[in-house]
Amino acid sequence: MFFALTEHGVVGRALSAGKLPGRANSNIDFRVWNPRDFTEDKHKTVDDRPYGGGPGMLMMAKPLATTIAAIREFRGGFDNNNYRAKVVYLSPQGRKVNQTLLGAALSENIILLCGRYEGVDQRLLDAEVDEEWSIGDYVLSGGEIAAMAVVDALVRLVPGSLGNSESVNQDSFSEQIDGLLDCPHYTRPEEYSGMAVPEVLLSGDHGAIEQWRREQSLIATEIKRPDLLNKKD
Ligand code: SAM
Repeated sequence: MFFALTEHGVVGRALSAGKLPGRANSNIDFRVWNPRDFTEDKHKTVDDRPYGGGPGMLMMAKPLATTIAAIREFRGGFDNNNYRAKVVYLSPQGRKVNQTLLGAALSENIILLCGRYEGVDQRLLDAEVDEEWSIGDYVLSGGEIAAMAVVDALVRLVPGSLGNSESVNQDSFSEQIDGLLDCPHYTRPEEYSGMAVPEVLLSGDHGAIEQWRREQSLIATEIKRPDLLNKKD
């Protein structure tokens, strides 16, 4: 599933560049770990029936704990007692992911734990997990898509990760635009379906363009997400 993230687009390129030793982006290092590789039986079992009955299966604690230990050992090497990584369980019950949470997470090593089936044995969560993060109030079949959303959004925030191909500074929620929504954008042709590109964008007057964009950001935020304006009070 993670090829969708690692093999495509600017984020995919940033991740593969980050994997190569000696590259400027080496602070981005992303790796996928499969708990089935850390099982001991020939069927590579990672799930079992829940105690107390009920539908579905649960992810067992042991293969996940072994996987997390293997990640710490791989990352920390001889020094793995001093290796710090926050374990985050992707879960619909978690704290809602937003740009502020991701910005704060940028400076940390993170192990993203993806559940499947009905979820994960609670004892694994109690023993290993530092935080639970949700990508919204809906239930996915597995944590992988949530993890990919998180990694994609995180990579965009790493300075230089996207090169010059995209500027994250104008994106919605960014500090540079005071946490507002992005302004509207236009490309060719100058007229489409009877609608013209706003005159100011064709004027070449950078000051006027900047002011227009700011106003449009405020208007978009007021209309679509007034809660963001209230937050600033
Ligand atoms: N029984 C669980 C509950 O109601 O809280 C839902 C299990 S869900 C079918 C399977 C896995 O998908 C979860 O363990 C979690 O890792 C992931 N998942 C589902 N919805 C998610 C969301 N909104 N955000 C993050 N991860 C989610």
